[in-house]
Amino acid sequence: MKGQKACCIWLTGLSGAGKSTIAELLEVLLKREGRHTYILDGDNVRANLNSDLGFSIEDREENIRRMAAVAHLMVDAGLVVIVACIAPLRRQREKARLLFESEQFFEIFVDAPIELCESRDTKGLYRRAREGLIANFTGIDSPYEKPEEPDVRIDTGLSTPGESALQVFKKIQGYLL
Ligand code: ADP
Repeated sequence: MKGQKACCIWLTGLSGAGKSTIAELLEVLLKREGRHTYILDGDNVRANLNSDLGFSIEDREENIRRMAAVAHLMVDAGLVVIVACIAPLRRQREKARLLFESEQFFEIFVDAPIELCESRDTKGLYRRAREGLIANFTGIDSPYEKPEEPDVRIDTGLSTPGESALQVFKKIQGYLL
């Protein structure tokens, strides 16, 4: 009925790397082609479904488990789901991937040096983390494991948001046909 192949496009990377920005621009590109999409943004989901969770390792595991489970339900319902979620550890992303058919899951590494993310500080979180007001902040006092073999790696220090979104779009276009 939808005339499309559903999939999950998972954008991982540090806070401020560009996940939400790319998710929104990618959605515009997909909608232009008539695709039915949904953005699951970690920040938004933490405001409701995951509002009981903090940022300890255990809570992050549970946060990602729920994000992946909801994304999986949405893919089951036929949507192209874009997930914007740090998912800092490789095993967390692997667990998410395992819920899906192998060709249905795209891991996109939204890469930028932490110094650049910190200088952007779009949400003021780095400043608060440096002041000790936020604990377990990814890249500062909590680890981030870079994807070893992502489907796409984007260096947002070298490209514009539009170019970055197009890079992801081109990668998944072949699958969606
Ligand atoms: P995240 O969702 O990863 O925390 P945001 O998307 O909220 O990051 O913020 C990223 C910031 O970086 C935005 O202000 C955006 O305009 C800027 N930016 C610069 N270059 C890029 C790019 N190539 N892709 C995405 N964002 C970029």
